[in-house]
Amino acid sequence: MSESSLAEFPLFMQTRMSPGLETERLIGAYTQNREGNQLLFFGGIHGNEISGVKALQRVFAHLKKHRPSFRGSVVGLAGNPPALAQGKRYLERDLNRLFDLESLRAWQLLESEHGQDGNERPKAVTGEAREALELYRIIERLVQTGTPTQRIFVDLHATSASGGGFSVIRDTEANREIAARMHLPLIFGLETQLQATLMNLLYRMGLTGIVFEGGQIGSTEALEVHTAGIWTLLTGLGCLHPKDVPDYRTHINRMIDAAEGLPKAVQTRYRHAVQPGDGFAMLPGFGNFHPVRSGDLLAHDHRGPVLAPQDGMLLMPLYQQQGEDGFFLVDSVDY
Ligand SMILES: [Zn+2]
Repeated sequence: MSESSLAEFPLFMQTRMSPGLETERLIGAYTQNREGNQLLFFGGIHGNEISGVKALQRVFAHLKKHRPSFRGSVVGLAGNPPALAQGKRYLERDLNRLFDLESLRAWQLLESEHGQDGNERPKAVTGEAREALELYRIIERLVQTGTPTQRIFVDLHATSASGGGFSVIRDTEANREIAARMHLPLIFGLETQLQATLMNLLYRMGLTGIVFEGGQIGSTEALEVHTAGIWTLLTGLGCLHPKDVPDYRTHINRMIDAAEGLPKAVQTRYRHAVQPGDGFAMLPGFGNFHPVRSGDLLAHDHRGPVLAPQDGMLLMPLYQQQGEDGFFLVDSVDY
């Protein structure tokens, strides 16, 4: 039984390597070519949400060093290396709103028309569009290789507000099961409020996956929750034996503790859209799952006070400059 080398992942070696950038596309890859699930993790689709990247680096460093027995395969990819290098959510456009299948196919065509002379990169597709296209190509090729038990995609994010790990999923049995393995609260219906996210592309391609929000951007908690969630999923799906995971019990407990006191499942009822120049400013002190009543003052913008349009719980109130979602309101649902 030998540790796989990156050479066994030629697909990923073909992705761009960006000299001078701190973070490259491939964070890590591990397999022993045994039957099992194929897991693909994305970190840093938003370049200021580094907990996912750091957690993946930790996990792959451990796998590389200790070479535990492993079923299936796991790959970790950095979503937006140029934005990660600058610690910004994005540089030109929000990468997580560019995964529209028609646009991706159009960009693909544009690139092929520019030819593959191996010299200068075609200028037709640049910036975040290029990142989206590269990720799409990887996904497209990945789903055509091998015959894993299941293909599972996990997109690691963090929020500008404080509070808790949770999952954002389309409500299917398979997606529920992934989130349940990590003991994560389920957020339903949020994906329908957002256009052209990576997860929406995956769902459109008929794939299984979840968004895994680890906690507040830059917090130790988010890094620990992301790390614990990755280990918990790898063991829960039978890729790894718990004895091969460092501090396995601590990770399980961390996931259970993170979900403590939170609803098991919520439905998204409302999204407050923010346009550039709105002057949107959330009142301080709100975290994820903070209960609000209809009419509560939540924020201000150039038009005046922003009130809660209905009862519910706040999700992802915006406490950063970049972003188009002021806040969401969610309701507990039976699960
Ligand atoms: Zn994000």
